[in-house]
Amino acid sequence: MNNPLLDHSGLPSFNRINPELVEPAVEAVLSDNLAMIDRLLAAPGPRAWDPLVDSLESMEHRLGRTWAPVSHLNAVVNSKELREAYNRCLPKLSRYSTRIGQNESLYRAYLELAEADDGTDRARSAVLEHALRDFRLSGVALPEEKKARFREIMERMSSLQSRFEENVLDATNAWSRQIVDRDALAGLPDDVVERARSAAKAKDLKGWYFSLDFPTYYAVQSHAEKRALREDFYRAWTTRASDTGPFGGRWDNTDTMVEILALRHEAASLLDFANYAEFSLATKMAESTDQVLEFLGDLAERCRPAAAAELEQLSSFAGHPPEAWDIAYYSEKLRKQRFSISEEELRPYFPVDRVLEGLFDLTTRLFGIEIRQASPPDTWHEEVRYYQIRDGEGPRGGFYVDLYARKHKRGGAWMDDCIGRARLKDIDDLPVAFLVCNFMPPSENRPALLTHEEVVTLFHEFGHTVHHLLTRVPYPSVSGINGVAWDAVELPSQFMENFAWRPEIIPAISGHYEDGRPLPEDTLQRLIDSRNFQAAMAMVRQLELALFDFRIHSAGRGLSAAEIRETLESVRRDVAVVSYPDFNRLPHAFSHIFGGGYAAGYYSYKWAEVLSADAFAAFEEEGIFDDDVGRRFLETILEVGGSIPAAEAFVAFRGRAPSPEPLLRLSGIRQEG
Ligand code: ZN
Repeated sequence: MNNPLLDHSGLPSFNRINPELVEPAVEAVLSDNLAMIDRLLAAPGPRAWDPLVDSLESMEHRLGRTWAPVSHLNAVVNSKELREAYNRCLPKLSRYSTRIGQNESLYRAYLELAEADDGTDRARSAVLEHALRDFRLSGVALPEEKKARFREIMERMSSLQSRFEENVLDATNAWSRQIVDRDALAGLPDDVVERARSAAKAKDLKGWYFSLDFPTYYAVQSHAEKRALREDFYRAWTTRASDTGPFGGRWDNTDTMVEILALRHEAASLLDFANYAEFSLATKMAESTDQVLEFLGDLAERCRPAAAAELEQLSSFAGHPPEAWDIAYYSEKLRKQRFSISEEELRPYFPVDRVLEGLFDLTTRLFGIEIRQASPPDTWHEEVRYYQIRDGEGPRGGFYVDLYARKHKRGGAWMDDCIGRARLKDIDDLPVAFLVCNFMPPSENRPALLTHEEVVTLFHEFGHTVHHLLTRVPYPSVSGINGVAWDAVELPSQFMENFAWRPEIIPAISGHYEDGRPLPEDTLQRLIDSRNFQAAMAMVRQLELALFDFRIHSAGRGLSAAEIRETLESVRRDVAVVSYPDFNRLPHAFSHIFGGGYAAGYYSYKWAEVLSADAFAAFEEEGIFDDDVGRRFLETILEVGGSIPAAEAFVAFRGRAPSPEPLLRLSGIRQEG
């Protein structure tokens, strides 16, 4: 087979994936799949799981295997050609999925199977239930005219969402700062300065050259003594892809946001939902928009007084009410004073290899699986590693790890699905994942060293990774993270974060990069004590994002740019404790909700954090390494994927419904009164 995207016999051949191969491969899979569906539906006789559902699952799996490497490369080694090819495929994919979703004969065939289903195989029942739900959410029951409009909306939306992300990426890449005065860099960590020095050299420039990747931005905000430098970076970062700031009006996402919101509302209305938030909840664990708003409001009420008190302490420490670009800086100083600890001092104790080794050992203890590095046949960058994961019975899957920030790579950290687990008539594939971070790369004379916060991020993404890889469900649409309610999908990831704070674990994931000496006992204790430093401020910040997202999506109509802004301001009045400068344009780079799948779903982080803190409490109660709890978590949460509703899976693990108390306790936020 000439097109590597159509060769599904092993891991993807990343080096052979040229942009010009993308469109033909995708088109071939899409048309094969559609032809296959027609053949299946034309066959006489009653419907049966095999061939109908088995084939549909296979088709979606093949499409996933073709598309996942493309969408991954587009995120981690973006180029003009790849981006164009990727974008040309989006409307085709959207058209395809609504075409299947709106296929009435196919819908009736699934309905027939669901009616005959005796419920003995939970995974099969879930496949059928999810499919029927998705048919309805694709407008299968609409009259032809409305169906067509729905398809049109979905297509347009996928292009708009992609454009939103491109604008953010382009605006981020476009900005840089050359600095020739060493004094201006006072306070910055040595390796950040050193990296900027090499970057300047490479460009034949004098002094130091900074780009706007997150580690650099964050380092400047936390450490730069010169206020003007912090403000400069803050302005660049918080005005990306907007109408203000250094590139005001270029790569501006304003119109894109307005159109996305209008289309989302229209799509929801076509399906008789009152607003897009209701549409979003149709696939989530939360039962109603009121329940979500109450959940967020309740948390805000409990946390806001504590957050205000934290800000007050910061203010008096700084000696003046802090501006937005002062907050991280004084917070870092205050943290240092209070706990004699700073992220930069911790860095040398967390060389990335040591952290990974300790993390993998922990996974072995908890879930009885082993992780070994293997040489990957082919990757997209020399820094990428590949690991295999196995248990006593044999291999369970594998994952790629791409750790460091670089240009043309999307910011943030995430886990994505490369291959889903599939055991079907003609397919037997183990799951494979991408684990991507944006850590500071190694420098000439030092390995990559992580801040503890980055360690926590790594644990988080690894939680998603094991969720995707340890599944035992044979049907791809509900295996691993697939088909898991979006507001429960952060359970395993946030659950894993907790381990990175435990005194039993930290020594096993740390050791000075020069000689392996352990983190001193008292530093370790101070690190643990510092966990809840400004926890309430962090909490209200997340609630601000969640409420903004939920309110703009439950407005009951599209919103103008001014209304989007007013909504943000009113949310900030309600929950935020810090004040923001006028030029701040948070929504314009809020890719989670405008570019990705978190629309009317950002609350999921908090929702799942309640679940994860409560799940972790079971380990605190019965022992951090307790075999039984570990096994129970593996079997009731990680292995079941989307085959069991999240609420039921949680009860199976915990023996009762979730409670918010463990989260408030874990964050050190006491309930008022
Ligand atoms: Zn996550």
